[in-house]
Amino acid sequence: MKYYLGLDVGGTNFAAGIIDENYRVIEKISVPAGAGRSIEEITEDMANVSLEVVKKAGVDISDFTSWGIGMPSFVNPRTNLLVHANCFGWKNVPIYSYLERHIPLPIYIENDANCAALGETLAGGAKGYENVLMLTLGTGLGGGIILNKKIYAGADMMGAELGHTKLVYNGAACTCGQYGCAEAYCSATALIRQAKEALERDPESLMVRLCDGDISKLEAKTVFDAMKQGDDTARQVIEQYIDYLSCAISSFVVIFRPEIIILGGGVANAGEILRRPLQERLLVNTYAGSEIGVPDIKIAECGNDAGLIGAAMLEKYGMNRNQK
Ligand SMILES: [Zn+2]
Repeated sequence: MKYYLGLDVGGTNFAAGIIDENYRVIEKISVPAGAGRSIEEITEDMANVSLEVVKKAGVDISDFTSWGIGMPSFVNPRTNLLVHANCFGWKNVPIYSYLERHIPLPIYIENDANCAALGETLAGGAKGYENVLMLTLGTGLGGGIILNKKIYAGADMMGAELGHTKLVYNGAACTCGQYGCAEAYCSATALIRQAKEALERDPESLMVRLCDGDISKLEAKTVFDAMKQGDDTARQVIEQYIDYLSCAISSFVVIFRPEIIILGGGVANAGEILRRPLQERLLVNTYAGSEIGVPDIKIAECGNDAGLIGAAMLEKYGMNRNQK
């Protein structure tokens, strides 16, 4: 049995894991990311948690042929610099030179949303498909594209930023500095903003009571819960959110015609109440939908492990790697 070593790096936690040939997570360790420390310290921790999981699995680091890492960032293949990692405040960091001091293996680094799409394709909701589009509806709107069972990231690994495609001309401000990006309408953060705007018009909404009168505690789940209990304002917020999201997805379908679309992230935990109306609206919104149909939308199945599985398998299905 061949094993693969993966590391999923987030702003809050690092998860290191060993994946077997059947894409099962056989061992996993999670540690706090400890953002705010030096690059030396954080990269040393990335290596330490990876070495620790190798030891825990009772294997040796020399048994591995690569170390795959998913990060909320990307490496420019022309310079080998990590372009930015907002969670750590890094910009143009020579990440490989820090990491290879600790683990002498070929290192693959890829955007975490792309890793999640790969993980779901190999082991989750898109198993058996080769052309997959995944959206992660979380703090941001992560996008991953799998074409012919490989990650598609475009020139300089800068493509597949589906969350920053434009949905509304001159629309809401996005975290990237642009306006009207899909992320500014379809992320969990956007849903919460839309709900808070609606509460200004209807302060009596059940949503307020569900967060004990403190709307700073309002989450995406609060809006769905209020809708399920018959709150009309929550229903309107969700319907508008689904309109935005189905429009964004229909554009992606027209461009890529994936075989399947996977939804992950916190908002996707809403399940059928989100998925079914999205599927119905996608059919109506999409070019040639009534003639040739539209891909099925499915909720992700791997949870937090999708990114880890994808990272571990970058050696086989990724694009970018340390050329040394
Ligand atoms: Zn943006």
